[in-house]
Amino acid sequence: MMAGMATEFEHELVTGRVVFAPGAVARVPDEVERLGARRVLLIGGGHDVALLDRVAGDLGERIRGRIGEVVQHVPIASVTAATDQARALDADLLLCVGGGSATGLAKAVALRTGLRILAVPTTYAGSEMSPIWGVTGDDGKVTGRDSAALPVVVVYDPGLTVGLPAGLSVVSGLNALAHAAEGVYAPAVSPVVRLVAQEAARALARGIARVGAAPTDAGVRSDLLYGAFLAGVTLGNAAMGLHHKVCHVLGGSHDLPHAETHAVLLPYSLAHNRGAPGLDLLAAALGGDDAATAVRDLGTAAGAPASLVALGFDPAGTGKVARVVADADFPNPRPVTFEGVRALLAKACDGAQP
Ligand code: NAD
Repeated sequence: MMAGMATEFEHELVTGRVVFAPGAVARVPDEVERLGARRVLLIGGGHDVALLDRVAGDLGERIRGRIGEVVQHVPIASVTAATDQARALDADLLLCVGGGSATGLAKAVALRTGLRILAVPTTYAGSEMSPIWGVTGDDGKVTGRDSAALPVVVVYDPGLTVGLPAGLSVVSGLNALAHAAEGVYAPAVSPVVRLVAQEAARALARGIARVGAAPTDAGVRSDLLYGAFLAGVTLGNAAMGLHHKVCHVLGGSHDLPHAETHAVLLPYSLAHNRGAPGLDLLAAALGGDDAATAVRDLGTAAGAPASLVALGFDPAGTGKVARVVADADFPNPRPVTFEGVRALLAKACDGAQP
């Protein structure tokens, strides 16, 4: 509860079963058995073929098919192909091993087939804890919430993220921090979820600050994945605001890299929402007085990209993005206007002080 404020919330925690432990990937066969699955379609990113081989080897003939390439923002063509494959195999479980792109493809197939998902995340995106799905077609990226898209089991093994390069670990961690940040001021957010968001921010900040110097440290990787899990719970149980909307539009229409876009924009989104109830709790969790400044300092010290231009965004597109965002319907603690979003984007293009 925030001191001195009238309390009002709705509480319903939506999560699947979670197994979190060093070496937990070895427990995937037990979890598949627990689900009674016999015909598994394995969906994995191409980053670690040896990991996919290992998971497939552990499951033996229960693996009936394998998709070894996934693409960010879930293009509709990949969804159609994967759905056809799942149906042709008569699969009874989708097992995704990888980042948000692998999870995202599994979610889109689950929505079309009713199949359950067992997720083994290898980044800090947090998609595995949310019922939010997204698919990109000719008209851009469409997203929604559906409980059928929420994995029924998530196996978290911090060791699987050791190979994530330090730079990617930092932006992926900041992507997770964005879920926690927008969770603290979400409308009618449960006090339980707000506490989860603050704990997520603390763990992520510790991990982001240390991963560059100690990328193979088990404690650092545990902090980051634990924080990502809690941030994913926040994402799945709180309505996201301006920050997620701008990132969604930039990712879907300008094909900007997902985690990097979150990393650049988060300080500016929080500066826009300065004074929102709950942001002081985020600042305190990050060890600062102002959340926007604390996130910016954390990212800068960890070597995160500082501007949208550095990610390949052409500032000439600012007005169009601002129009789409200003016309969209989403909750945010501070008013969202065309001029306000344009100013936010202009600062993010320059990498100016938030
Ligand atoms: P990603 O899954 O595309 O992975 C980024 C890159 O890292 C890829 O090249 C991948 O192969 C590689 N990689 C993954 N794990 C690795 C590891 N352990 N070591 C080395 N390399 C590794 O990116 P992401 O940031 O995890 O996810 C982004 C996607 O997820 C976007 O499409 C985004 O919209 C979606 N997303 C959805 C939600 C949701 O709730 N629906 C939440 C967060 C992200």
